[in-house]
Amino acid sequence: MIQLKNSEQLNAMRVAGRITGEALALAGEMVREGITTKQLDDKIRHYIEKCGAKPSFLGYGGFPGSACISVNNEVIHGIPSNDKVLHEGDIVKIDVGAFKNGFHGDSANTFPVGKISPEAEQLIRATKESFDEALKAAEIAGARLGDVGHAVEAYVKNYGYSVVKMFVGHGIGKELHEQPDVPNFGTPGRGVRLCRNMTIAIEPMVNMGKSDVIILPNKWTVVTADGSLSAHYEHTVAITDNGAERLTAIQ
Ligand code: MG
Ligand code: MG
Repeated sequence: MIQLKNSEQLNAMRVAGRITGEALALAGEMVREGITTKQLDDKIRHYIEKCGAKPSFLGYGGFPGSACISVNNEVIHGIPSNDKVLHEGDIVKIDVGAFKNGFHGDSANTFPVGKISPEAEQLIRATKESFDEALKAAEIAGARLGDVGHAVEAYVKNYGYSVVKMFVGHGIGKELHEQPDVPNFGTPGRGVRLCRNMTIAIEPMVNMGKSDVIILPNKWTVVTADGSLSAHYEHTVAITDNGAERLTAIQ
């Protein structure tokens, strides 16, 4: 069942969203050659806890980190590690969730480590822009989830990229993952109709190569099957009378 939020609950989600966005931005500023993904994770946990919130992902299904940090061909759910050192030319996806006053925020971005290839730059830019396209589609009156997913896939296909199909965006609120599923593909005019006070995480996961992904033996980390680079971009979004509001965006 889709849980719509009242104005009080939306305000609580704005608070959780702001903390999430700030923690993600702080970690993004720390990204550089030589840093480990565990150091980024520690920063995220400390900041979220300083705000009186809890990292949504820590312990979720047994996940050992506060954030999911995935490098290059890793798509999502990378486990922060002291052994994982970032190198010049890498791209790193940081996915953060914060839980405060009963509600979650969820946001992700892909950061360059030093100077990266033009191809990687284009992948990151197109993934962010595919989110913008999804948001535009969501703001059209009567939009359905098929329109949102189609907007993402159609946009990245222009570049010869593919969207991940095994993992999708989701409703969010009291639970990190609520109904409905929010795929990055779809048929225009099909699927759940978006309505006011719905809160969803829209999160394009875009592979430079083929769509297929594999889960590593650590049972978490998802990698591209063909080894190609992957990028991720996510905001928690509320559908309101004034359009689609990004709850995890910071000023
Ligand atoms: Mg996320
Ligand atoms: Mg999410």
